[in-house]
Amino acid sequence: MNTALKTHVKALVVGGGAVGTSIAYHLARAGWADVMLLERDELTSGSTWHAAGLLPLFNMNYATTHIHKYSVDFYKMLEAETGLNAGFSVVGNLRMAQTQARMDEYMLYATTAETAEVPYEWMTPAQIKERWPLVRTEDLKGAIYHPTDGYINPADVTMAMAKGARQRGVIIERKWQVDGYEWTGSEWHVTVTKMVEKGGNLVASDETAVIVAEHVVTATGNHAQRTANLLGIKIPAIPVEHQFIVTKPDPALVEYRKTYGEHPVLRDADAKWYVREERGGWILGPYERNAPARFAYGVPDSFRADLFPLDLERIEEEYMSMIHRIPSSETVGLKDDYNGPICYTPDGNPLVGPAPGLRNMWLAEGFSFGITAAGGTGYYLAQMMVEGEAEIDMASLDPKRYGPWMTTEYAVTKNEECYEHVYILHHPDEERPAARPLRTAPVYDRQKALGAQFGQVNGWERPNYYAPAGFDDHDARSFRRGGWWQYAVDEAKAIREGVGLIDATAFSKHIVKGPGATQFLDWFTCNKLPKVGRINLTYALTLAGTTRTEYTIVRRAEDAYYLVSAGAWTAYDADYLRKAAEDKAPEFGYIEIQDVTSQFGVFAIAGPKARDVLNKVIRDADPATALTNKRFPWLSARRIELGMCPVDAIRVAYTGELGWELHHPIEMQTYLWDLLMEAGAEHGLKLVGARAQNWLRQEKSYRAFGTELGRDATPAEADLPRFIDLGKEFHGKDAMVQTGVRSTCCTLLIDGPEDADPWGREALYLEDGTKVGRLTSGGYSVAFEKSIGMGYVRPDLAVEGQKLKVKMFDQLWDAVVTCDSPYDPKNETIRKDG
Ligand SMILES: Cc1cc2nc3c(=O)[nH]c(=O)nc-3n(C[C@H](O)[C@H](O)[C@H](O)COP(=O)(O)OP(=O)(O)OC[C@H]3O[C@@H](n4cnc5c(N)ncnc54)[C@H](O)[C@@H]3O)c2cc1C
Repeated sequence: MNTALKTHVKALVVGGGAVGTSIAYHLARAGWADVMLLERDELTSGSTWHAAGLLPLFNMNYATTHIHKYSVDFYKMLEAETGLNAGFSVVGNLRMAQTQARMDEYMLYATTAETAEVPYEWMTPAQIKERWPLVRTEDLKGAIYHPTDGYINPADVTMAMAKGARQRGVIIERKWQVDGYEWTGSEWHVTVTKMVEKGGNLVASDETAVIVAEHVVTATGNHAQRTANLLGIKIPAIPVEHQFIVTKPDPALVEYRKTYGEHPVLRDADAKWYVREERGGWILGPYERNAPARFAYGVPDSFRADLFPLDLERIEEEYMSMIHRIPSSETVGLKDDYNGPICYTPDGNPLVGPAPGLRNMWLAEGFSFGITAAGGTGYYLAQMMVEGEAEIDMASLDPKRYGPWMTTEYAVTKNEECYEHVYILHHPDEERPAARPLRTAPVYDRQKALGAQFGQVNGWERPNYYAPAGFDDHDARSFRRGGWWQYAVDEAKAIREGVGLIDATAFSKHIVKGPGATQFLDWFTCNKLPKVGRINLTYALTLAGTTRTEYTIVRRAEDAYYLVSAGAWTAYDADYLRKAAEDKAPEFGYIEIQDVTSQFGVFAIAGPKARDVLNKVIRDADPATALTNKRFPWLSARRIELGMCPVDAIRVAYTGELGWELHHPIEMQTYLWDLLMEAGAEHGLKLVGARAQNWLRQEKSYRAFGTELGRDATPAEADLPRFIDLGKEFHGKDAMVQTGVRSTCCTLLIDGPEDADPWGREALYLEDGTKVGRLTSGGYSVAFEKSIGMGYVRPDLAVEGQKLKVKMFDQLWDAVVTCDSPYDPKNETIRKDG
């Protein structure tokens, strides 16, 4: 038993790489005393020591953009605080484009960058050539240049953060390995072992201790699989091999540098590499094909601050393209090489936030740009831990975005794919092929035979749209209107004018029941609870009063509820719901929570002829009256029978048309499908995918979770007062009220370019060029025959008729704020009787 080690702390951070060190620093800076960091070896001995240290601001993810931006600003200040120079070379970052599609990508990125105040400039090939003559430019279309980023020394910045942390009272202990976690109900008992050197290896000694910590953060880099095993959870963070090579001095570069400054970091995304200067030579970092995943079952003891052998053959193509782009590098020999593990996740974003199912356990795992992300991750994670919520929406990084269906093989396959895809064109309508199909509804084969082009949501295959045989979705992708656009238009029109069928099986579904259920849900959500047989739209809030989850609640009995929420977020929603119910059961009584997502399929049938189709197959009551407003009014729910299939039907349609959601036993899905297809044939029933649905819901100003609804805006800011019952107490209410309205959600009709619609990432301006907000959704409106979008603007501007501008393709386009629900504002078609 070790006595020198402090054994009671407020927060224990496990892992002394760039990420863990930043978290410890920021927890102390946010005001927590008693923070301890444990590192099994030396600080930076994981992936951090061999990183190339680039700090790319470019990122298509909103949360990550903020994180990277914070890091770059923070690293610049660190020397003043710690006296240690982190070796930040602000040389800029030049991302070159060989194709117009790549320029389109940069232009979409640029408008997002503006929403996060990330500076950039455009450069023509001639301007590049003039400034950096060693770069071949005749086959370039142009470039986007970030003047404020560059590269840093990863070890130095980590040491600077460690010094800053120590100055703020953090205890950093090296050569202590965490070997076990036990939750007592109020604190973690963490078993740690002293590590010693033996024959060049790092091995466990007999010396152990138990540290009692209120909170634990794991930032264990390549050791994430061991951490997952110790915690009894799955963490899809598995490293992939990543190489970079360093050339000998290039005489042309040496000569150039006698007169001029350093080159920016050069990125030729179409050639899949980055290049930067290194002591008169070049560093080439390729993102090549076939880089294998490593350490899926843990890191061997013998692998410390080690590297894998170089695989030059694998990066030959990228090497040749560097020579093409920088001809003077052709005759320069190799000086050094690095092939190290770089942690990945299936979507390339790190896993930051509360661990699934566990209390006071926070993950910060799976960083592939961990040097760039460390500063911001520490800052925002510390906010989540200390204040209960971060100022940006961290949901897209939440570890629970993967559910219990996620396996090791899935993670390996997707992580390898993700690495290879780092520099592909990141079309907003991109769908990645690996590990598919995996989660399929029973009708998958039928849909496929009918031309469904699938997207993947939370592992589920879900039709995006339907196309004729032989159509290739891959070739149809674009930053503008893709080849699929017309199909989505036809589908959207079918719902507005006839009848359409949407597969919504991926919806998250929970049953909440028991003696405590009513009081619990009344506290947990902000709207009034529905009466038995009725439904309500409502929100569960965060501690900060922002939106944690949107629910459609069906009240089946006094104490029995069926909750429907977004398909992408099943485990994320379940975790929050379960933990809250556990906390509140002593006060409210027993609450049972069941995740029934996979037990029920959902078809949404909608359109003016929806009732006609259902009337042909409804059997539990006389079809003449079964679906009338009297028996089945809007916003009600009841059990019906379609043929021989019992269906829990809800009269609601996310498309804003007359319609029903048909929740049915999954094992009867193909039967129900065939029945509806047959009944629908004479009414022209059209199969409709998620893309058309997304457009249609914007015509009704229906906010979507993950875009308009998230943890950076309250339901009041989302402008949903009719779904907030201020007359009752509910979780997050006080914070929501205190927050007030910082910006307001509204719907805009947009006169954009002829061949493009917004994607929901674009910056919004006043006519005089003042930036006033951003879009969170975008698309095309078949009702108004122009682009549509939803977003957040300064509250005084969220008024009907307000003229704004949307930045798309580097130009400002006219937009006007509409009334809420510009299509059918009085909900007449939804309520139609028949
Ligand atoms: C060749 C290469 C080049 C790269 N270039 C860049 C770049 O230019 N820019 C960039 O942003 N990123 C780059 N990266 C990625 C970057 O290295 C990582 O994202 C980053 O280092 C991750 O930091 P971390 O703190 O999460 O993990 P690590 O640095 O791996 O740290 C994790 C630490 O946890 C410790 N640990 C694990 N388990 C335990 C335990 N049970 N108890 C105690 N301690 C434990 C480990 O010993 C380790 O020190 C590169 C990676 C590679 C391989």
